[in-house]
Formats: sequence, C-alpha cells, structure tokens
Amino acid sequence: MADDAIRCDACPVLCYIKPGRTGSCDRYGNRDGQLVRLDPHVMLEQARSRGESLVPFLEKSREWDGTLVRDEDTFVTAIGAGTTYPDYKPAPFIISSEVAGIDMVTIVTEGIFSYCGVKLKIDTDRHLGAECNTVRAQGEAVGHVTTGEYGSQMLSLGGVRHLTGGSRQEGTATCDALLNLCNGKAVELEIDGGAKVVVQADKPPIVDGMQEERMRVGCGSATIGMFAKQWFGKVDEVVVVDDHITGVLSEHQAGKLLGVAETGIKLLGRRSTPGRYFRVAEPGTSWGGTNISDPLSILAPFDPKVAKPGLRLLMVSTTGEQFAYFELDETLQPIEKDLPTPLRESVQRIRENCEPALCTVLFMGGAGGSLRAGVTENPVKLTHSVREALTRVTCGGAPVYVWPGGGITIMADVSRMPANAFGYVPTPALVAPIEFTLKLSNYKTLGGYMDHVRPLRSIQRDNEAQRRVTSRVDNPWPLRKTGAEE
Ligand code: SF4
Repeated sequence: MADDAIRCDACPVLCYIKPGRTGSCDRYGNRDGQLVRLDPHVMLEQARSRGESLVPFLEKSREWDGTLVRDEDTFVTAIGAGTTYPDYKPAPFIISSEVAGIDMVTIVTEGIFSYCGVKLKIDTDRHLGAECNTVRAQGEAVGHVTTGEYGSQMLSLGGVRHLTGGSRQEGTATCDALLNLCNGKAVELEIDGGAKVVVQADKPPIVDGMQEERMRVGCGSATIGMFAKQWFGKVDEVVVVDDHITGVLSEHQAGKLLGVAETGIKLLGRRSTPGRYFRVAEPGTSWGGTNISDPLSILAPFDPKVAKPGLRLLMVSTTGEQFAYFELDETLQPIEKDLPTPLRESVQRIRENCEPALCTVLFMGGAGGSLRAGVTENPVKLTHSVREALTRVTCGGAPVYVWPGGGITIMADVSRMPANAFGYVPTPALVAPIEFTLKLSNYKTLGGYMDHVRPLRSIQRDNEAQRRVTSRVDNPWPLRKTGAEE
C-alpha cells in the first residue's frame, strides 16, 4: 500500500485513496493528504428571511456574503454532510441553534441504507403488468408490481433482497435505479409480461413509448355518477369503459334516479351491481386500461324487445381520451356517427376533470439500525423520542412520514428534497440524508453526544464547502414546532 494513500472510513468499503483521487463512490477524495467530502454541504435558508423569490428550492444566485444569518432561518441538512462508520461514532454534524428563544439541536448524517427502497406511484390507466410480476432495470430484477390504486399503478423497488440478496449485478442495477429515481432522473423499467415504462419523479410516465397525459377521472361507475346529469336528454345510453368497473348509464343508480329509460343494452363481463360490470375485457394499454380497441367488442346484441332503431349510444373511456358515438339502425346494429357537439362538450368535461398524470417517487428507509447510535448512546431512546413527536425527522429538510410500529421507518417524497440529495456506496447501498431535530434539553435526556454539540455559527464560517439553497415554500420549516410539540 502506498504510504501517501489515506483510508476512507465513511462506509464499510474502506477505500484507500491516493492524493488527488476519489474513493469508489466519488463522495470522498484525498485532497493534499486530507480526506474530504467532495460535494458541498447543503444548508437550507428560509425563503422569507431575505425576501427571496418564492420559487421552490432556488439555488442562491449569489454567494453568501459572510454576514451572519439568524439561527432560526438556517437549517443544516445532511446532504453532503458525510457519514461516520461504524456508527458508534457521533454523527458528523450535531448543531445547536436558537429558535424562538429555545435551544434546539439538529443531528445530521448521510445514512447508508442497505435496507431501503422506493415506492413508485405511476398515474396511468394502462396495464403495466400483473401484480407480483418482476420489475427489471438493465435486465436485472429490481422490484415488483404491487397493487393498482385508483388510477395509478404502484411498484415497489429495491429492498434488502434485491440490494444484497441476489447477484452482484442485481444489487448494482437496483442501487443504480434507486439512486437515479431518488435524484430525479428518468429510469427505464421493464415489467415481466407487461410494459416498458420510463419513470421520473414529478414527470408523466412514458408507457411503451407513449407519454401518459391524464389520470382517469374515476372508475366507470364513478364517471357515470359524476356526469349522468350532463348526459341526460342528450343521449339515450352511455357506457364508460374501464378495466376495473365499467359503468352503464341506464342501469346505474344515477340513471335510475334521473329516469333514464331502459335501452336493451347487454354488456359482456361480470355484472356486480346494477350498471357496474367487472372484467369486460382483459387489462391492456387501450380503452380505459383494457386491451380493446373496438368498444363494441364488449357489447352483446341489444335486446330487440326493448331497443329501438335510432337509439343514441355514447361509449367513452375514463380519461375521455377514447370515445365513440353510435346510433342503432333498423336491425339494431350500432352504426358509428360523428360525435354531436353537446356530447363533445361532455367528453371534454371528462378530460378537464382528469388530473395530469405524474410519477411519484417515495424513498423508504429504516433508521432503526445503528444509524441511531450516531445520535445517542442509547439508540432506543431516539426511537421513543420520534414516536412521542419530541424529535422531528426530515430528509434533506423535507418532511417524512413515520410509519407506526417499531423502529423509525420513514417515507419521503423525493421531489420535495433538494436536487441530488442521494448518493451511493458500492456495498451496494443508497446514501440518503437524514436529520433529527429536537430540543437541546431533550437531546441531553436521551443520552446525546453533548460534547459534540457545536453552534451553527461555527460551521457558517466555513462557507467554501457549503451550498445554500432556499427552502421550498410548501415544506414545513424543519425547525418549527410540530403540532404534537405545541
Ligand atoms: S465507497 Fe465512498 S464512503 Fe465508502 S470508503 Fe470508499 S470513498 Fe469512503
């Protein structure tokens, strides 16, 4: 081993780094014999403190001029703060600040998560793949399809089994996909027996090469409920085609209440309750998330005892993207005609009521392991303190949802965090920022490293390695009391 190489002890890889070089995760380097964290340490500044623009997460256009800013308007995130490994060492930054006359402390660390994942909500009606099917990135299994939710398909990616339990390539591809998704980059995923989808936080999904535009307004039955009045009198029958629940106006309770007459329509599929049909077709990427391109394929012949020639029928999908208008001829065959203007408006109304389709990336990790030992000598006390809402957990200053039950299992929307908040180490594991903020007196009670507490001003002097970012206005300010503390 060359004498001039230094050892990085920020993760279990324990790289030896030569002068001017970086370690295998590119987070640490050897600069003139010193081990340095290469990315700037991100500080959040409250937008209102300097009359800044309210544009979320504005990177400051000018360098910090060196003037002291008020403690309560500055928050030290864990982004770029570094890690301490093994975790029995105090976290890299344990920073005190005074907020509204109260001494607070924020403990920050870039946690190394071998147990972590991403929950993906993809707003689309299109069928991406069957539940439990494997999701792949770079050809490797990185997760699976989970439940479909109302107008969205959920995927679960990562987790310890993919990160550490499979082949080296599987772990690396999983870590890569999680890292890119968490840092707001686009990732192409392929689902076994299903679609290829390009996913990016806060952007519309691209399913099999087609960019999704809208979420459905509701299931077929809900759509009937929402728009029945607007159709009444303008058309005799409406079928809202949907993979889950297809609605039929004349049979539906909404149609009955309006006095819509029977039309003799017969739907293929399993009738659930009046006007609501399950499984009218197979799942797919066409009309209402089914595999049909011809809506008439879900209809049986009209009942000749009830149906009349000239009967007007609108068929529409739950996003309003697909629609067709028919009139019955003398033999009760539906003949396609141009959509009359009043119905065009109602189809437009469905589209108008659809939210833009987006992908949501939630990072999920558990701070139940040794990371807590970087905060206190008695880690379970930190867990209790989080449970009692005495300690607020944030990820890069963004709010997190703390799961009930044991441990500190959190979820955070990555789009509420500053850009490039995540890193990785080649164990493989994701590096995610995590901050714990609490009253200094409570920190002492839970066995905190009081001799490592240093004031905010002590790190403000060292601004060369800092990046200051204006806090996102719709995030709660991490130093403000939560409801439970008040
Ligand atoms: S992978 Fe990164 S954090 Fe881990 S030892 Fe190497 S340089 Fe340090």
